Amino acid sequence: MSENHSQNFHSGEQYEEIVHNKLNDKQMRKNLKSAMGILKKNRKNTIANRYTNWEELRELGRKVKQNALANLPTLLENFERNATKNGFKVHWAKDSKEANEIILSLMQKNNANVILKGKSMASEEIGLNHYLKDNGINAIETDLGELIIQLIDEPPVHIVAPAIHKNRYEIGEIFKDKLNAPLESEPEKLNNIARTHLRKEFKDFRIGLSGVNFAIANEGAIWLIENEGNGRMSTTACDIHIAICGIEKIVESFEDASILDLLLVPSATGANISCYNNIIASPRQEGELDGPKEVHIILLDNNRSKILADSHYYRALSCIRCGTCLNHCPVYDKIGGHSYLSTYPGPIGEVISPQIFGLNNCAPMLNFCSLCERCSEVCPVKIPLASLIRDLRSEKAGEGRGGVVGYKETHRSSLEKNSFAVFTSFATSGFKWRLLITQVRIFGGLGKAFGGIIPGLKQWLSCRSYPALDASLHSKVKNLKGVIYE
Ligand code: SF4
Repeated sequence: MSENHSQNFHSGEQYEEIVHNKLNDKQMRKNLKSAMGILKKNRKNTIANRYTNWEELRELGRKVKQNALANLPTLLENFERNATKNGFKVHWAKDSKEANEIILSLMQKNNANVILKGKSMASEEIGLNHYLKDNGINAIETDLGELIIQLIDEPPVHIVAPAIHKNRYEIGEIFKDKLNAPLESEPEKLNNIARTHLRKEFKDFRIGLSGVNFAIANEGAIWLIENEGNGRMSTTACDIHIAICGIEKIVESFEDASILDLLLVPSATGANISCYNNIIASPRQEGELDGPKEVHIILLDNNRSKILADSHYYRALSCIRCGTCLNHCPVYDKIGGHSYLSTYPGPIGEVISPQIFGLNNCAPMLNFCSLCERCSEVCPVKIPLASLIRDLRSEKAGEGRGGVVGYKETHRSSLEKNSFAVFTSFATSGFKWRLLITQVRIFGGLGKAFGGIIPGLKQWLSCRSYPALDASLHSKVKNLKGVIYE
């Protein structure tokens, strides 16, 4: 069962250790690099060949999400009213504990000890599998990637492709060891092994669980996007379907959801359209042959309303979980998703994990960003990820706007505070900066000349050289600022 890292505090040392280990995992890095390369190429080709004005569509997507977030309380009420009219049972969960308890009570009420799950990051966020296991209930993952990592007791490495760090040979070994299957490496044969294994589980399950891509307020319906058909099985072949939906997944209309779908699919996989679009508008109706008799939708807050209340960071709630910011991040493909020690890795993880799970619990991950801005450039709903990460770093240092969940003041030595204050005063004044550079040049030269005979420095200098500092840096930054901001 996958471990949920996110509820706990993780120290800088824990982050350092895992990053070190992952950087040394050459096979994982090779697998990730190759997979990310394919995803990026597919996205680029699809956008170039199938979309006449991608940028316009991005802007439209941004506006759809902005509108939904600006009216979220009303849309949530509309959704609840219309979904209830359609025969759904809507539950509100303020946090992971409440969401888990709702699911457990539904399982107990129906005397069920097995639940089949389609892919749901919200269920990972609340640590559902562990919680159910502790209460004697077996949660079985039916998404291929989720199944693979469940078999080896790992959390998802990526928000869209949970087992993307494993290649087909490794997956063949896992199936051989854990499912007693013959050793295979051809994707078709591996799929067959998983299908045969899961069909047994699907034969007589009663309760299925899924996530939600979009919840449509005007219709009281939910929209699930997937590629394997397991989502459809988990939500239609059961008696009871439970859907976990983060409150930020609400949009006003089908038209709005369609715009986001057009952005989501090529961004996530590079495909034009996903294989399965499940739009669920009611439980099984009189005279219908299939579909669940009950559908329960859990609207999960888990600190989202606190994010929404912040006039700056609320933009993170526009995320449609396409994963393309992870695919384009030059750090993610080196260290992999597990290094973030959170359900949500990569650039979007750095923005939402500290706000959902508490800033101090996962603050070291904010240092993973190189601020190259690639993530912001590719995000289909134009979330300014890099700026938000930079601003959250200020929060971590106690220099931000304040109010981020779980912030506890950490002791910063006066030496550190004063050093940064001095550096800031030099870096923001052309005169002072040039003066500094002159001094560094003089003393740098002296250091080189005499460093070799000073004990301690001798060894350090024997294997290092440092480039000359650029005196024109200040004016370059000034010019650049003009280009960006004016
Ligand atoms: S932040 Fe943007 S790019 Fe990243 S997962 Fe969310 S929607 Fe996709």
